[in-house]
Amino acid sequence: MKIHEYQAKELFRSCGIPVPGGTMCASGDSVRDAVRALGGDAWVIKAQVHAGGRGKGGGVRVVRSPEEAETAAREILAHPLVTAQTGGEGRPVRCVLVEQAVSIRKELYLSMLLDRSTRRPVIIASAAGGMDIEEVAAREPQRVLREGLDPCAGLRAYQIRRICESLGLEKPQLKQAASLLQALVRLYLEKDATLVEVNPLVVTEAGDLVALDAKVQVDDNALYRHRDVAAMRDEGEEHPLEVEASRHDLNDIKLDGNIGCMVNGAGLAMATMDLIQYVGGERANFLDVGGGASAESVERAFRIILGDPRVRAILINIFGGIVRCDRVATGVMEAAKNVDLQVPVVIRLEGTNAEEAREMLNRSTLRFAVAGTLREAAEKAVALV
Ligand code: GDP
Ligand code: MN
Repeated sequence: MKIHEYQAKELFRSCGIPVPGGTMCASGDSVRDAVRALGGDAWVIKAQVHAGGRGKGGGVRVVRSPEEAETAAREILAHPLVTAQTGGEGRPVRCVLVEQAVSIRKELYLSMLLDRSTRRPVIIASAAGGMDIEEVAAREPQRVLREGLDPCAGLRAYQIRRICESLGLEKPQLKQAASLLQALVRLYLEKDATLVEVNPLVVTEAGDLVALDAKVQVDDNALYRHRDVAAMRDEGEEHPLEVEASRHDLNDIKLDGNIGCMVNGAGLAMATMDLIQYVGGERANFLDVGGGASAESVERAFRIILGDPRVRAILINIFGGIVRCDRVATGVMEAAKNVDLQVPVVIRLEGTNAEEAREMLNRSTLRFAVAGTLREAAEKAVALV
């Protein structure tokens, strides 16, 4: 799950990572007061959306008076923000972070995430932080340090030295850096994060380290033990069909093709998407209806898939291991009567009682295209769209 920058900074603050003073404002009305309460003579107004690249997209503005702050906030809130990560239509901005401005000497990059290839958390550090880090990583990978952590030993002193060196830090910052790195590791582990990113981490003109940006992602499957983080969920930033699916314990991920998929089990769903692509089609979503595939869950899945106007055919691929195929077929036929099915449906059922299930579907007045193998199912779906 992603959270907003202002929320990530609350987590930073609570674990001792230094951040500028700031206030979240959901409209322009409260901005002047927020600025006065923060004090100082310059502030930054930052669009809060679950997407990066805001600086280059005009979503981060430095202002020098309360009036200017209010105007900037109103402008940012008035239009969807388009960045390299949002797609052409952009993202509506529902709130801004009003923050004390920091005078920057250097912008650094620091993050911690799970490295699946080594099966360990890794800290990534670079002295070339700021808005062009992706380019630096692609063109000059030697300027980016990857320091893998032993999950039992944690962050070792020699690793802290190595990271500080690659960040180009000097003596006055070393102590702050060590405690900041330890806080970063603690936050990542304690909150079951999959990503904690600070870009930029800055050295201020006064020589202090401050986290100017904050990105935190937490493992969805661990949210049950982090009520504080779970409460930070902003459904407005998620795809409405995914939100609807998660309400019913269905896993749905929107993609941009036109073949809707309804599959039981994540592995089979991945294989189904691969095969659709392999035979020349494009899948509209990844949807795992779970082991049961009851009439109700199938009906909800139909509604979620049909909620996407781009869907031109639906491919149902169910393996009857725990559940019997004839029961699934009954469920599919019942569900199909309740929803307005305007697109063709291809069904492939395999496993217990698959033969009976296919006969039932073939006899049905609803015209399903019944397929024997997964490949045949994928080819039929592609031919139908
Ligand atoms: P992102 O582009 O979405 O990653 O947004 P960031 O929060 O990283 O901000 C983008 C850029 O704005 C930073 O790299 C800084 O150069 C600049 N910026 C952000 N906050 C401040 C600030 O307090 N003072 C100054 N001078 N620049 C800032
Ligand atoms: Mn940033």
